Amino acid sequence: MIRIFKFFFFFSFINFVNGQSEYIYILGNVQDAGLPHIGCQHAFCKDKFNKFEEYFTTSIAVVDSVNQKYILFEASPDLPYQLNYLEKKIFKKFILPESVFITHAHIGHYAGLMYFGREALGSRDLKVNVLPKMANFLETNGPWNQLVDINNIKIQELNFGKQTNHLNNISVIPIKVPHRDEYSETAAYEITGKNKKALFIPDIDKWEKWDKNLIELVLKFDYLFLDATFYDSKEINRDISEIPHPLVSETISLLENLSVKDKNKVYFIHMNHTNMMLDPKSDLSEYVTSKGFNIARLGLKLEL
Ligand SMILES: [Zn+2]
Ligand SMILES: [Zn+2]
Repeated sequence: MIRIFKFFFFFSFINFVNGQSEYIYILGNVQDAGLPHIGCQHAFCKDKFNKFEEYFTTSIAVVDSVNQKYILFEASPDLPYQLNYLEKKIFKKFILPESVFITHAHIGHYAGLMYFGREALGSRDLKVNVLPKMANFLETNGPWNQLVDINNIKIQELNFGKQTNHLNNISVIPIKVPHRDEYSETAAYEITGKNKKALFIPDIDKWEKWDKNLIELVLKFDYLFLDATFYDSKEINRDISEIPHPLVSETISLLENLSVKDKNKVYFIHMNHTNMMLDPKSDLSEYVTSKGFNIARLGLKLEL
């Protein structure tokens, strides 16, 4: 028995020395407006209005379990629930992120910053990493500029292509993606750990509008969290050209000839309430996963 314990502690120690402790933790997979969705009469949404289930707006954490720290990607409108989820499932106490990264100024990605303000938590110098246009947007528009002025948050400006280091072994590089940039630029984030590399792209207009080749990126990365807002164009009664996204059906065709191993690296995320990939029991979820792709779900852990 003692030998087993010695063995265990030895490996924990080695792990600690190597710092191989970080993992990605999925905190939400829904499009900006969340689930249930305002005014929606669809049975799937109605059901979620009637009973609380944990479906949160897209966000991921990178957790360092040895040092009990994490960085957060996106400040979603579900932020209080998401930090509580981390408390409940991981840390067993409430912990604020070391730092927050935001991709762009659409509600699902930054509106949760309000919970750090005076009317809510009243944090002190919480680091918020954003690109220059987003920084300017937060610094010059209420209510966000109050968070900056009274030091609830501390803006740290990032630049596309430039690496910053976080936790023990994590580096982050923002990459420019084409999107509806009304208030800010839009970033994807390259997140590199000691052993693995992930790419987080919750929102992008269309793959063909980008100067990068998605197939090459799948080969290069270990995990890719890809915009899955709509499965196909028939899902909503709105002019879809006003809200362009790569349809999941298009992404699947684009990646069709990759090996199963490479397809397995893809985790679809940021699904609209109309995209039944949100429902793990749907035929659509079954179909997408049968093609070799994954769907990001709350509580999923992926070692970095
Ligand atoms: Zn979004
Ligand atoms: Zn709905």
